[in-house]
Amino acid sequence: MAGNYTLTIIKPDAFGSGKAGKIIAHLEQQGFRILASRVMHLTQAQAGEFYAVHRERPFYGSLVSFMTSGSCMPIVLEKADAVASLRTAIGATDPAQADAGTVRKLYAESKERNAIHASDSDENAAREARFFFAESEILAAR
Ligand code: GDP
Repeated sequence: MAGNYTLTIIKPDAFGSGKAGKIIAHLEQQGFRILASRVMHLTQAQAGEFYAVHRERPFYGSLVSFMTSGSCMPIVLEKADAVASLRTAIGATDPAQADAGTVRKLYAESKERNAIHASDSDENAAREARFFFAESEILAAR
């Protein structure tokens, strides 16, 4: 399974402004298939743990606050070379730097409120998918 799936989150800025459908359609058009998904409102503890790697960064508190400001949509996506393919599809962290046609160029508001998360390695994809979903939920669609 490694290499064929990744974890994305439609973040509260995009979900709250009604862009989830457009973003999912954009990704499905690029060949991604949804394996598991839910709508949820992260707690401070969940957001803090999910982004623990950034704990020492100056934007950590603001990021946790943003990620708990509204509902979001974690999704496990399947595609060949899923991690690299989704990173390309979402574009640079800062939408001002993102390539034309990427999710962040199309839908992000700012470097922080940037519409979408994507795992950055197969190892993190596995960890992040299990953060939100039981293995049985992911396997059910395969
Ligand atoms: P990503 O892999 O492109 O999502 O970027 P990172 O892993 O470096 O950062 C995680 C998330 O933290 C980003 O998606 C942004 O929401 C936020 N973030 C990153 N850099 C900054 C920054 O310089 N300022 C602020 N306010 N937020 C940031």
